[in-house]
Amino acid sequence: MSAPSNPPGVRRGPRPRTGPRAFRVGAAGAEASVLVFARGPSQAKWLGRATEWLQGEDWIDLRATREPAADGFADGPAVLDGADARSQRIMRGLGWFEVDGDGTPCDRCGLYPWQALPESLLVEDGGLLLCAGCRAPGGGRGR
Ligand SMILES: [Zn+2]
Repeated sequence: MSAPSNPPGVRRGPRPRTGPRAFRVGAAGAEASVLVFARGPSQAKWLGRATEWLQGEDWIDLRATREPAADGFADGPAVLDGADARSQRIMRGLGWFEVDGDGTPCDRCGLYPWQALPESLLVEDGGLLLCAGCRAPGGGRGR
């Protein structure tokens, strides 16, 4: 997974209010949503509406909800729509899942498999369904 945007040795502090923040953008009644980095909910909706997942949705149906856990990945206005490995790893780490996945999370870390991420695929191990990360020695959450 990519590292948060605060490299070691750089002063850490509250993110400036004008910097990009993370939003989950979806539409009422739609099953898919996207993760968007934007300066505010309105920009988030504009960016989200440009994706294949939300194009054609009426503006008034769009909802932008803050997703503070993803703020550290913001390096500018952008959309994470799960189309590339970087965004898939970030979204999986935040507990997101694929719309067409089977909805079964790893029994140890609770994260969902993403078809294009080999480390996320579940294999039965001693009666549990575990992702590759959790089957590795010392893997999994809560070490
Ligand atoms: Zn796992």
